[in-house]
Amino acid sequence: MEFSLSKEQVLIQNMARDFAEQSIEPLVTQIDQENRVPQEILDGLRELELLGLPFKEEYGGAGAGYVSYVLAMEQLARVSTGPAMIISVNCLGLAAIDKFGTEGQKKKFMFPACQGEHVASFAFTEPGTGSDPKQITTTAVKEGDYYIINGTKRFISAAIYPGPMILFARDDESGQPTAFIVDKFCEGYSISEPWDKLGWHGGTLVDVYLKDVKVPAGNVLGEIGGGYPVLQFGIAFGKVGVSSVALGLTLAAYEEAVKYAREKTHRGEPIAKFQAVQLRIADLAMKYEAARWLTYRLGYLADRAQDPVQFAKESALTKTYVCETSVDAARIAVDVHGSYGLMNDYKITRIYRDAIMGPQVEGVSDMQKLIVANAILRG
Ligand SMILES: Cc1cc2nc3c(=O)[nH]c(=O)nc-3n(C[C@H](O)[C@H](O)[C@H](O)COP(=O)(O)OP(=O)(O)OC[C@H]3O[C@@H](n4cnc5c(N)ncnc54)[C@H](O)[C@@H]3O)c2cc1C
Repeated sequence: MEFSLSKEQVLIQNMARDFAEQSIEPLVTQIDQENRVPQEILDGLRELELLGLPFKEEYGGAGAGYVSYVLAMEQLARVSTGPAMIISVNCLGLAAIDKFGTEGQKKKFMFPACQGEHVASFAFTEPGTGSDPKQITTTAVKEGDYYIINGTKRFISAAIYPGPMILFARDDESGQPTAFIVDKFCEGYSISEPWDKLGWHGGTLVDVYLKDVKVPAGNVLGEIGGGYPVLQFGIAFGKVGVSSVALGLTLAAYEEAVKYAREKTHRGEPIAKFQAVQLRIADLAMKYEAARWLTYRLGYLADRAQDPVQFAKESALTKTYVCETSVDAARIAVDVHGSYGLMNDYKITRIYRDAIMGPQVEGVSDMQKLIVANAILRG
């Protein structure tokens, strides 16, 4: 078993940390207040090839694999979740195309999104369903060489940016969910105002309205009626990104607690002298290490994923543990800060708001536990 990183992985980790500290950190408050990632940060991510890090160079990616992706995402999210979530959803959409797309679809849709000219989206959720594919009501009706799509998609990340959207609709031939690649901002595509959400500011979320959207039959991703495997396997790769974001938040919570414990004094001595504070610091260190190795392992597994059911189990297990750990870690770090931990002047309040997002997204924790249990119990 090898626990050390390769030279290339260390380089990518350092590059992401330097970019986050030098270029994102000065704009963190702005991102949080405006709920928008400034163009200069998107340009920086593109120049560093961070938008398509895990994908093959022939499709426009950096060819660095998922372990490097996890390392970079952890460092970005340690500073701000907004830019990291844009990368995460881009890589989620691209992973679905990478795994299920034809060669033509990969060349056409992956290249510009890996290069940062586009940002991919993944649209499953609807006003009537977030966890249950059987309840999808968006329809796709075949008309000659096209499908006509009508419906509403809720809470869609990065739908404000041009690029491909992996959209799930019930087609009239199979009656089952089918995945389509829809060009965002085509005729009939419109979006709501951004949702005003608790955390992950900059990772903009809107509803998407599809009114008689005409999609070429060649844009079906995978099989007609085969939307569920695309959803299951694609979103399993999305959970690599969400886990890495939660890991970055756990690291940030841990670092903020250590910093505060050393700086805040009682009777002229740092509060780090109190055993109650020391126990919390130890808890944070343990939680970070456990979450870290689980997430790095998921990156390793993502580079080798063959069996969709097995990988879905591993990504559900990791995402649940790491996201819930980041909420615990943020809560413990708030405790170390006392009442100051409730004041927006302190970084830990944003970390707490960001951490609490993870367990609900890309499948709520309860559903993830069912995925894990079903994979174990089926034999
Ligand atoms: C920041 C953010 C980004 C998002 N980005 C996207 C995106 O890009 N694309 C997209 O499609 N969606 C996106 N979503 C939507 C998100 O993935 C869904 O909201 C999420 O999967 C949960 O669905 P729900 O809110 O309808 O919860 P529900 O499915 O209603 O679940 C609510 C609760 O009911 C329980 N429950 C539900 N079903 C079951 C069951 N079968 N068994 C046991 N318990 C159950 C669980 O305890 C759960 O906590 C995003 C959401 C957020 C907040």
